[in-house]
Amino acid sequence: MQETKFLNDFENKIKKAIQEYKLLDEKDKIIVAASGGKDSTTILYLLKKFGYNVSALYINLRLGGYSERCLKALKELCKQEKIKLHVLDIKKQFGMRMCNIRCGVQQSIKVSNCMVCGIVKKWLLNKEARRLMADKIVTGHHLDDEAQTIIMNFLQGNLMLGANSGPITGSIKNRKFVPRVKPLYFISEKDIKKYSLMKKLPVVYEKCPCAVSSLRIRVREFLQNKDEKTKQKIIENFLKILPGLKRKLLKEKLLYCKICEEPSRNEICKKCQLLSLKNKS
Ligand code: AMP
Ligand code: ZN
Repeated sequence: MQETKFLNDFENKIKKAIQEYKLLDEKDKIIVAASGGKDSTTILYLLKKFGYNVSALYINLRLGGYSERCLKALKELCKQEKIKLHVLDIKKQFGMRMCNIRCGVQQSIKVSNCMVCGIVKKWLLNKEARRLMADKIVTGHHLDDEAQTIIMNFLQGNLMLGANSGPITGSIKNRKFVPRVKPLYFISEKDIKKYSLMKKLPVVYEKCPCAVSSLRIRVREFLQNKDEKTKQKIIENFLKILPGLKRKLLKEKLLYCKICEEPSRNEICKKCQLLSLKNKS
């Protein structure tokens, strides 16, 4: 009885966020950026259950057995739920595995594994989602992720870094930019794990083997023993200042990267800046 209440409350909370923040439209062609982990698998499963036009996109970063296990789990879910799965191989895109890209970059600058991987993934997701003519990209970011990001930006002395965040990246209207949406924005990681276990979704629960020694990990540890209310407060307070940050961001011009022609805030986008460092080393 209690189990059914948890499942219903969980699903209703996500439906409410989608409606309140106008995250998705019934007509949208949706690509879920699916990693094989619990968060993106849960939202993929649920959007299909809610009746959205959804397919999954997996970027195979070629991180050995971990990537293979993630892909296997995702294939299983997509087969079970009759969801189309697109797979993008990093080796085909850049001629090498994520570890090689990262190591090349790290020979020139001190930057965390997750930072390099995140920038490359974001770039690939946008490009591929646009090629697939998607209206929205959905990611599995949740309450804990978002509270961490806000604290990280604060610690780095740059809250503007979060200007393009929030449940929907709504400030940039650009023909080459596919809006990114986070329907799990208000849901805790603990509840997502509980839901995925109760539903017995095929999920890889292990952490990415490359996620070591980043600022995010230290912030995660700091927030770990804080209760959910504290994390919600962080999000609520951030959402109060977000419209101001977005207005400021709108005044900045969006350019196209001179190398890859993808939308960028600078003449050369972050991904091309990183990859040019790799080539120098
Ligand atoms: P992370 O950057 O690993 O914290 O993941 C954040 C979100 O990015 C996940 O919830 C997924 O939606 C998406 N994502 C992460 N890794 C992949 C991947 N290999 N392929 C596709 N989407 C991914
Ligand atoms: Zn570029």
